[in-house]
Amino acid sequence: MLGGIIVNRYCKYHPGTQALWYCSHDGLHLCQQCVDGRNDSLIEARCLLCNQELESSEQGQGGPLWRQLDRYLRYPFTPVLLPLLVVWALLASLVPPLPVMVPVVVLAGLPAWGFARAVMTLRSHPGKARKSHTPGWDCLSDMAGWKAALLQALPALLVMVPAGFVLVMVSEPVGLLIGAVGLLLVPAFWLAIQAQGPEPGSYAAALTYIFSAPRDYAVAAVLASVGWLLGVALIAVAVDVMPLPLAQGLAGALAALWWLALACLCGDILARHGHLWGLDQGGKKVTASLEERRQRVQLCAGRFDKVLLSTAKTLKNKKATVADWQRYDRLLDITDREDERRTAAPSYLEMLVVSGAWAEALALLARQREVEPTWLPASPSLRLALAQGIHEQEPKVAVGLLKDLHDRHPDFSELGDAYLLLAKILAEQFGLAGKAEQYLRFVESQCRDAKLRKQVADYRAAWG
Ligand SMILES: [Zn+2]
Ligand SMILES: [Zn+2]
Repeated sequence: MLGGIIVNRYCKYHPGTQALWYCSHDGLHLCQQCVDGRNDSLIEARCLLCNQELESSEQGQGGPLWRQLDRYLRYPFTPVLLPLLVVWALLASLVPPLPVMVPVVVLAGLPAWGFARAVMTLRSHPGKARKSHTPGWDCLSDMAGWKAALLQALPALLVMVPAGFVLVMVSEPVGLLIGAVGLLLVPAFWLAIQAQGPEPGSYAAALTYIFSAPRDYAVAAVLASVGWLLGVALIAVAVDVMPLPLAQGLAGALAALWWLALACLCGDILARHGHLWGLDQGGKKVTASLEERRQRVQLCAGRFDKVLLSTAKTLKNKKATVADWQRYDRLLDITDREDERRTAAPSYLEMLVVSGAWAEALALLARQREVEPTWLPASPSLRLALAQGIHEQEPKVAVGLLKDLHDRHPDFSELGDAYLLLAKILAEQFGLAGKAEQYLRFVESQCRDAKLRKQVADYRAAWG
């Protein structure tokens, strides 16, 4: 019933992922992958497009929670939960008003605490809550559930029992104040146990939930605190007008009412903000780096110029990868920067050669030669490396890369290797033994290196 109000929104750039944030500047709903989440903070995130602060997209959905306060107060009177009020009321009325019996009265609330935990768990899943909006009695057989229920009861009792003691024994205003202030924080501990698991360590995260959903949390805090004040006021009147056991019974029933209404409200807060708080629902963990995610969002939004700038910056970095270069090349293409693309080609080619991407290197070479048919990379070592990589598939291109190296780069230190390779291609792939012999002679006359000379002799023997 109550949970059904929540509307799912999906990330603009991940249509299958629920959006957690909303950018009012760009008018976009975004998932955790698509925002600068400041170490996955639940409280603030920035837009990767405009860098402005984002709103949590669950905030305010389904209207403010205080408008539903009457429903929360009616909730404990549903038939399944009504016995809990009766149980606490009965046990409280049977126990005589001796201070030593206070623990018994308190423990009479056990079933209500167990149910409260189950109510929160059930209602934190909007889908389940629609089918059955109250848990069944079988929820009390769940041991892990009991651990959570007791950890949730503890902070509430640590406030209420001392506050009650001060109220009766010391001073009424001071006792009321201790309770009213202390109870403001109790829902945060409940939320922390629900979101982080039934461990005492979960208490440490309590404040996060207050700041993550301040508007909705305020409603819970007020319900907790004002509920206490009204409850005490009602009991004070009851003590005067009815027999004591009856007044005690009323106190028990009010405690159960307080507990269950607050649990229902906390359950709805969890349903609204649970995605953000990592509660179930299979939200994908953010694994890619911020820079990668920023570029992806900018690409999706068509901000090619921005991506181009940041990619160009990455390329100046020594750690740039062939993927960075590929992206840079594509972006220059998309943004019609043909001149820059041509200028960048030699560096891109070098990257492709270094990473052995031969097919792409050949395609890049062909692209350059479409505009300038005689284009070759200026660097002789790049030409040699490329020829070494491609000579088997593209002997013609390899010959083109190597043939006039001694004219253009007479001082090239690997000239011998280059011409040995050239001779090998000419002899083995084109059957031009005569031409090959010319290059072998060149190597013989120019190079002192013993290994090269031996290679020349081996080739001659092989080609006979
Ligand atoms: Zn996304
Ligand atoms: Zn934005």
